[in-house]
Amino acid sequence: MDELRKNKFIETYTENLQRITLKSFDDTSDKDRYDALCDTIMGLINQEWRDCKRKTRNQRKAYYFSAEFLIGRSLGNNLINLGIYDEVKELLDEVGIDFEAIENYEDDAALGNGGLGRLAACFMDSAATQGLNLVGYGVRYREGIFKQKIEDGFQVERGDSWIKNGDGWSIRVDSDAKIVRFRDQQVKAVPFDMPVVGFENGVVNTLRLWQAEPFEEFDFGKFNNYEYDQAVSEKNRAEDITRVLYPNDMQRAGKVLRLKQQYFFCSASIQDMVEKYKKDYPEDLKFENFSKYHVIQLNDTHPIMAIPELIRVLVDENGIFFDDALAIAKEVFAFTNHTVLQEALERWDRDIVLEVSPRSLEIIEKINQILVEDFKQRGYSEEQIDPYRIERFGQVHMANLAIYVGFSVNGVAALHTEILKDDTFSHWYKVRPEIFNNKTNGITPRRWLVYANRELTSFITQKLGTDQWKYDLSLLKDLEKYLDDEKVLNELLNIKQIKKEQLAKYILEKEGIKVDPTSIFDIQVKRIHEYKRQHLNILHIIYLYHKLKKNPDMDFTPTTFIFGGKAAPGYFRAKGMIKLANEVARVVNSDPDVNKKLKVVFVENYRVTYGEKLFPAADVSEQISTAGKEASGTGNMKFMLNGALTLGTLDGANIEIFDHAGEENNYRFGATVEELNEIMDTYNPVEFYSKDSDIKDVVDSLVSGEFKDNNTYMFLDIYNELINPQNGQRGDSYFLLKDFKSYAKAHEKINKEYRDRLEWSRKCLKNIANAGFFSSDRTILDYANDIWKIDQE
Ligand SMILES: *Cc1c(COP(=O)(O)O)cnc(C)c1O
Repeated sequence: MDELRKNKFIETYTENLQRITLKSFDDTSDKDRYDALCDTIMGLINQEWRDCKRKTRNQRKAYYFSAEFLIGRSLGNNLINLGIYDEVKELLDEVGIDFEAIENYEDDAALGNGGLGRLAACFMDSAATQGLNLVGYGVRYREGIFKQKIEDGFQVERGDSWIKNGDGWSIRVDSDAKIVRFRDQQVKAVPFDMPVVGFENGVVNTLRLWQAEPFEEFDFGKFNNYEYDQAVSEKNRAEDITRVLYPNDMQRAGKVLRLKQQYFFCSASIQDMVEKYKKDYPEDLKFENFSKYHVIQLNDTHPIMAIPELIRVLVDENGIFFDDALAIAKEVFAFTNHTVLQEALERWDRDIVLEVSPRSLEIIEKINQILVEDFKQRGYSEEQIDPYRIERFGQVHMANLAIYVGFSVNGVAALHTEILKDDTFSHWYKVRPEIFNNKTNGITPRRWLVYANRELTSFITQKLGTDQWKYDLSLLKDLEKYLDDEKVLNELLNIKQIKKEQLAKYILEKEGIKVDPTSIFDIQVKRIHEYKRQHLNILHIIYLYHKLKKNPDMDFTPTTFIFGGKAAPGYFRAKGMIKLANEVARVVNSDPDVNKKLKVVFVENYRVTYGEKLFPAADVSEQISTAGKEASGTGNMKFMLNGALTLGTLDGANIEIFDHAGEENNYRFGATVEELNEIMDTYNPVEFYSKDSDIKDVVDSLVSGEFKDNNTYMFLDIYNELINPQNGQRGDSYFLLKDFKSYAKAHEKINKEYRDRLEWSRKCLKNIANAGFFSSDRTILDYANDIWKIDQE
């Protein structure tokens, strides 16, 4: 900013502050100051935002339909992308305002569960930065993912009403409200537009989130008649639709309300698109041209109701023949799969779909008929058609609907896409191989490096002599010229040390635990799930603890193990894993024999904002899922970009991380997918348990009384799953015991090699230099070029 803009900025800001609050400057609170800053920034981007909307009105656009956008905070990120972060900080400092306090006032917009929702947020950032016409459509949940408290080592869920004090980053657009009709209810869908600021390029795209509202605030007649509850019941029933984000990561629940939610935002978005098309393209207004201007990317199965909805709007409201409407849909929809876990591939009971939207069911059943006819004509028997059916055994299979109608199906990492082709959707791959493609996930380097790690950012810019890498992350490759430069390697170590000290301070503040910033920071943060195997990590810590107990002088580099993550509220075993981590932490941290060398921390309420402090401070990135289970992972990429070394299985994008940075610069362990497939039917975990005394020792410690689960039987449950299966299944479904020794060995190697500080730093630099491929800029350009066929501005 030049002097003039600076003066103008601070003038506007103080004016806003006083106008909003009616207070004199000194009386304003952090909240006031935060609100006024949002206001000022929204004012600053208003012109560009409107310009972008106008300029792109008649251009082909991609639409990202997602039930989740895990945005986090917006203030710092928007300032970074506007290129005025440091200046604003300085300006506020000059008028005596503590920027950090204001920043901390902002609540995370946590409208997502984990990786899938965060990916959607990273994509929005990258599309704006790359000048791509991408509109996001989603749900404005009043309650985001719950806030996690840890009480007595147990997870306790609290509400997350993130907009109770307003939402400075949205604009309510009443004039674009829509009516969404369910079988027994009609509600208003009101859009809230959030600006998506491209990085220093003047582009502002739009994320449009829908909120459900009643037509009337309350029934005056009933109120007048003293029926107060009934007077507001319609209002509540409408608002219920967008009240909560379902926190059941990868599990099914909530049924009717959840499907209502999905249909709600799909219907509103489709209506919005069709209405705009009719307004903006009067010359082209034959619907066969609709697909010339629109492509819809379905982020997982949640938005697939958009398919019958587009057909409904075309047929019922615009007089198009069904077959023509289906043909249009076939050119518009592309589908992304995010997991091979069967429980996440949505299937709805027919009567639930009927209860939510009878017309949608009718359309789905008609598509199913056409599908069956299609296959019959190609000579398939009824039985051969079965796996393809959209409706089967009274259930609607959403993935089959999307793959039959869609023109593209993609997985999110190379291995994942292969598994889709060979296994999950192998039947589809046989008949439509040409629609399958891979788009390895990515992360935005703006939030996860430029914003989260200012120190490393300056270092990189200084070493490369330009900040062009912020637009094109592949340029990081040039850092390799410093691989043998001791001075530079030491600088890199110093930066990591600074980030570790900052995190240590924050952990002391938030968790009340003192950690040694010179110890190895070994971090596993992600949703808690058996397939992600946090319990493998914990069992290994117990193993180390027992070893150190027996031999306190053992040669061992002090290590701090850090965990974080939320468990779905109804997922008993995942909650047991949280309790176990906390209980091991309590025992280890209070044991003077070991607590100089070993520390364990479970950080409360892991979310985007906590991640921004954790990723830059990590030495070791734990990516230890059972091979074949983690579709991609994106946490792994955030760690890599910040110079942590990956301790990981050959799973998801870990494989590509090893390929790019070199396996020798990371720590690979564990069985491969092929090896696991091989032993799948014969695996007996008890063999590992009885033949290896180390394994027996740690597994037994779950039930020996050494660690206490307050009589919840949580630890017994984990023990039983491992070696004492209850329902005739084999134990240890996720192969912890199979991988344990290999994992322990990799840890031993890390513990030794960490001491050669220069060699370690060389590996860090090698990882950073090769992280370019994992920028979501690369991913989004691949979507734009291969699937969407849209150009950069
Ligand atoms: C990146 C991210 C995730 C995804 O982490 P994975 O390790 O890929 O599962 C989940 N939650 C938050 C808050 C994130 O930032």
